[in-house]
Amino acid sequence: MRGAEVADAVVVGGGTVGGWCAWFLRRAGLARVVLVERAQLGKGASSRAAGMVRAQGGTAWAVRLGMWSQDFYRTQRERAGVDSGFVALGYLMPAFSQAQVDQAKARVAMQSGLGLDVSWLSVEEADALLPAMAPGRHLGGSYAPGDGYVDPARNVAAYIAACVRDGVVVLERTELLGLRRGTGGGVEGVETSGGLISTGRVVLTGGPELAEVGARAGTRVAVGGARHQVAVTEPDPRLAPDQVKMAFDLSEGVYWRPEDGGLLFGMSNPFEPPGPATEIDWSYLDKVRHRVAELVPGTAGLGLRRVWAATIDYTPDHLPILGPALDEGGAPIVGVTVASAGGHGMMWGPAVAQIAADLATSGTSEVLDVSDLGLDRFDRDGRSRLVPDPIALPFPSRTTAKPEVAATREKGTTQR
Ligand SMILES: Cc1cc2nc3c(=O)[nH]c(=O)nc-3n(C[C@H](O)[C@H](O)[C@H](O)COP(=O)(O)OP(=O)(O)OC[C@H]3O[C@@H](n4cnc5c(N)ncnc54)[C@H](O)[C@@H]3O)c2cc1C
Repeated sequence: MRGAEVADAVVVGGGTVGGWCAWFLRRAGLARVVLVERAQLGKGASSRAAGMVRAQGGTAWAVRLGMWSQDFYRTQRERAGVDSGFVALGYLMPAFSQAQVDQAKARVAMQSGLGLDVSWLSVEEADALLPAMAPGRHLGGSYAPGDGYVDPARNVAAYIAACVRDGVVVLERTELLGLRRGTGGGVEGVETSGGLISTGRVVLTGGPELAEVGARAGTRVAVGGARHQVAVTEPDPRLAPDQVKMAFDLSEGVYWRPEDGGLLFGMSNPFEPPGPATEIDWSYLDKVRHRVAELVPGTAGLGLRRVWAATIDYTPDHLPILGPALDEGGAPIVGVTVASAGGHGMMWGPAVAQIAADLATSGTSEVLDVSDLGLDRFDRDGRSRLVPDPIALPFPSRTTAKPEVAATREKGTTQR
């Protein structure tokens, strides 16, 4: 903490959103940016992600956040010194029913209108492009050649390197305890386990723990955490990147991509109540594994090299949160910005981080108009007035451990 008692900005949470936000603030010219992390940088969801990076979203917000983030990843080495291992492999979202075909074609029109390189592939075109997929199982799909994946561990290394290189003050093993507010209500400092940091500018992140971070800061944030599982099969030549590319099973909410010669696949159980992930759900994993083997037959009978479960962040409407912290009466806490990527931190993280930095410095952002994406869209029970983005994992619809989960969502709208 020595020398860090006064800051031009304090960013809470050292995941990909907080890490890149601190770096963007420093690059915006703030002399003293302090990044406060309870554990170690990247110890939250960011190091445990699957790395899927998709601009094929279900809303204009999602598409724009995805496109901006992909641009960032493509130019990151020149801008930040280290890349995040982004590979633009191409991403198919197959449709399994006529309703899904119609929805997907409407999305392609919306996405193309925003400048995304995306098109509808017939069954024959998709089979030719992704020969590892079982033929005749889907009715065609939307395909974006620029969608791809990052290496989440390398992304953590990249923002650490960028922050250290450009002089962000990093305080690990230091947790936010609360905010110090001035007589006018605005923020004057951040109380941490290492002492007070005086500042008039704070960005709150925290991934799946953002609700707790918010509570400590005096603001109610509708973000939850739920178990998410990822597995990687043994290598097999049939799973080479040019054979398998990236894809979704639109009906089951399982996605996959090549990894180390094998297939990485990830899933969330829509019928599971929210809460931190403490162990692997082997029976659900087994069910999904069989489904993957039906669609990518080369995975049948392969052993698993790696399996992990971790807590993923989500928002009730599957959209990001970007805006001022609000006090109990709903008034903005001057100087405090809240940022959540809503479970899409790899595909939207850089854009969310840049917007949070812009909001903290100027109150607005040229990346995206986020006036509808603030905390004021939620009621006291965390219900959003926005229509949920239909292209998201089967996250719970509430952020508390109530029995009502995403079971009521239409099948086929649960994709990563
Ligand atoms: C298994 C899994 C797979 C995923 N796959 C993908 C994917 O393929 N594509 C995609 O786009 N997204 C994916 N995600 C989601 C993505 O990882 C997250 O959206 C993203 O990492 C969130 O970043 P963050 O910086 O907001 O949060 P985090 O990375 O969780 O960082 C928050 C940090 O805040 C710290 N913190 C908490 N409380 C405090 C406090 N009081 N004081 C100080 N610090 C505190 C935590 O220690 C943590 O380090 C996946 C997530 C999981 C778990």
